[in-house]
Amino acid sequence: MEFETSKQFVRADQKVHIYSDALLGNLGKIRAACKPETKICAVIKANGYGHGISQIVDILKQGPVDFFAVANVYEAAFIADIVEDKKILILEPLHTGYASDAVQLCTRKGFHCAVVDTEALQYIQTCLHNTNDVLNVHIKVETGMGRCGIEAKKAAELIKKIRTFENIRLAGVYTHFSTAAEKNLSYATQQLERFKKFLSGQSLLACKDIIIHASNSAAMLNMPQAHFDMVRCGIALFGWAEQPNALNVSLDPAMKFEASIVQLNRYKKGQTVGYGRTFTAARDTLGAIVPVGYADNYWRLYSNRAVMKISDNFANVIGRVSMDKTILDVTDIAGVKVGQTVTVIDNDPQSECSVYRLAELADTICHEVLTSLPPRAARIIH
Ligand SMILES: *Cc1c(COP(=O)(O)O)cnc(C)c1O
Repeated sequence: MEFETSKQFVRADQKVHIYSDALLGNLGKIRAACKPETKICAVIKANGYGHGISQIVDILKQGPVDFFAVANVYEAAFIADIVEDKKILILEPLHTGYASDAVQLCTRKGFHCAVVDTEALQYIQTCLHNTNDVLNVHIKVETGMGRCGIEAKKAAELIKKIRTFENIRLAGVYTHFSTAAEKNLSYATQQLERFKKFLSGQSLLACKDIIIHASNSAAMLNMPQAHFDMVRCGIALFGWAEQPNALNVSLDPAMKFEASIVQLNRYKKGQTVGYGRTFTAARDTLGAIVPVGYADNYWRLYSNRAVMKISDNFANVIGRVSMDKTILDVTDIAGVKVGQTVTVIDNDPQSECSVYRLAELADTICHEVLTSLPPRAARIIH
């Protein structure tokens, strides 16, 4: 299986600043909020939540991470050579559509792989037949998420089956909550009870060498009774999880996205701005053109709604966000210059252009704002 690392186009006038201290600080706080024996799995799928997967691995591997979790085998292969002594967990269930050399790669590199059906187990065994290699698998149990897991009865059969395969080892059993980020945790608690029932029915809680895990960031922060042997945290590491939370963990955002003004433009009172003429200047207006647009996932629905920060002032987006450009009203901000830095996404959680605020404007969650960070922006590591 080949993984091409083609040359990536990067532009220096868009900067995604990554703050190592914040990342490692959040990791340390998560570590401290869990029991000392609880393992920490840093979830870094989707290009490290948009920040840049290699950069994030390089920083987090300096801290108390036990596993890095990725969505698929391609991401796992991409980071395999930089994780050093940390393990990798692949969350997408391994299936018969994998090339046999992908299965062999997982085994050779020591990846832990989710499995949810007997066909996949049979297939893994066939791929590894006549070798001494053993693949570590984690069974994902459906408890109410309604996505990739398998129901308890089938999971029990799968566990029994694994014991008959020489080249497969049961390394973990897990589940995933669908509502851990909501205020009302009653459904999440029901899921937890179903999971616990399964674990005790299978006598799994006493097995020291099987990692039991269930919690994402929200559950880690608000359901300490669901930590089990490992927590899987993504958004909390990047500093944008539930605040406040049951464990009183305060997090620091680890990213700021900046660009710089490329042009200043004077609009006369009554003049319209941009495509569709959605903004009419109510007064003589000074516009600043920022080279970030919907091609950078600065979404078109931010048109006439979002703000960006210039020094310590917030400037309204006026008119439609276009492919590569957004226009700000900087009439009331003194001394604005071409080349001046603009904060597009702020690392201050209280800011009017924080990830929280943009997520709210776009009717989405912080995860989606972060994974939409433009890959073509330069990454600056602090
Ligand atoms: C993405 C993911 C996580 C991490 O979720 P956060 O909300 O970012 O902490 C944990 N577990 C699974 C199975 C996931 O897919």
